[in-house]
Amino acid sequence: MTAPAPRPSILSIEAYAPGQSKIPGVNRIIKLSSNEGAFGPPPAAMDAFVETAKELHRYPDGGSTALREAIGKRFGLDPARIICGAGSDEILLHIIQAYGGEGTELVMSAHGFTMYDITGRYAGCRVIKVPEKDLMADVDAMLAAVGPRTRIVCLANPNNPTGSLLPQSEVERLQKGLPEHVLFVLDAAYAEYVTEPSYEAGAKLVDSTPNTVMTRTFSKVFGLGGMRVGWGYFPQAICDVINRIRGPFNVNIAAQAAAVAALAEPDWVEKSVAHNNEWRAKLSAAIEAQGIKVWPSHGNFILADFGTPARCKAADEALRSRGLIVRGMASYDLAQCLRITIGTAEECTMVADAIAAFAKNG
Ligand SMILES: *Cc1c(COP(=O)(O)O)cnc(C)c1O
Repeated sequence: MTAPAPRPSILSIEAYAPGQSKIPGVNRIIKLSSNEGAFGPPPAAMDAFVETAKELHRYPDGGSTALREAIGKRFGLDPARIICGAGSDEILLHIIQAYGGEGTELVMSAHGFTMYDITGRYAGCRVIKVPEKDLMADVDAMLAAVGPRTRIVCLANPNNPTGSLLPQSEVERLQKGLPEHVLFVLDAAYAEYVTEPSYEAGAKLVDSTPNTVMTRTFSKVFGLGGMRVGWGYFPQAICDVINRIRGPFNVNIAAQAAAVAALAEPDWVEKSVAHNNEWRAKLSAAIEAQGIKVWPSHGNFILADFGTPARCKAADEALRSRGLIVRGMASYDLAQCLRITIGTAEECTMVADAIAAFAKNG
């Protein structure tokens, strides 16, 4: 008997490993493994979610009209060139499926977000991972990796899991160096957390070039990871392509309502960012005080570098014994590092204490 076989490239994909949420035998779990935002969902989003219960028999608005308009208003963008998706993962999937394919190449940086690799392989692309410099995307090396078969270049800025922020001038240099038939995907999942004044998430490049798209999400600062809402901002021609292929009802009714309400929650982003700045600095300093390197981060997480995979694993186990779940980075080729989400003040203090105890004992 021969079982049906998928396209060969599919079998080269390692399934995405989500952040864990359970430790056997431990009651109180602190989950700091998925960058979900320190404060839970915005209260207005919870109310809006409950409110949609009465409408669950209805199909959602397939165009996510109210949500696109609210996003457009909030970020000063043309709603007609926004597409919402079930997380920005869905937007990335359609972009890469539509513009990649067998015989093409997708270029990303060595420690770029895993979903580009998974989705690129799914589409049949050869995925080229370009070495970084000090855990930062190397524009010259990325441009050098672009060849005649390249169709897509993906960059997360800030990047997950390294936290690095490529300066605006470098982002623009990367875009300018690409042939116009190569799609430049700027993933700005952590845009709201960036305080660097020159930072521009991507809208200006989308508006001024034919080949740049920007993806964004409600999963991080807006605290709606469980609802699966993300969006992209596109040049009109690319927007039209993605609208042909996306699911006609891809964002469910509760997700649309919760996201609209999240945008309207007063001071939510300001409070979240202020908290993140304070505790990212405090937690980084506390870990560095133990002689453990922390890479500079512009997101709501830090990357702690224990030097060797063995010491990193021991640190992970020490954290787990206290119910603290963070993210091992072996799948990103960074087995010596743990990525730690910035949680509440109490949670950050628990992490700092656990790492101090670990450093003392071993
Ligand atoms: C979390 C994350 C996303 C995707 O999030 P969705 O929940 O699918 O919107 C995309 N890119 C990066 C870099 C991320 O860290």
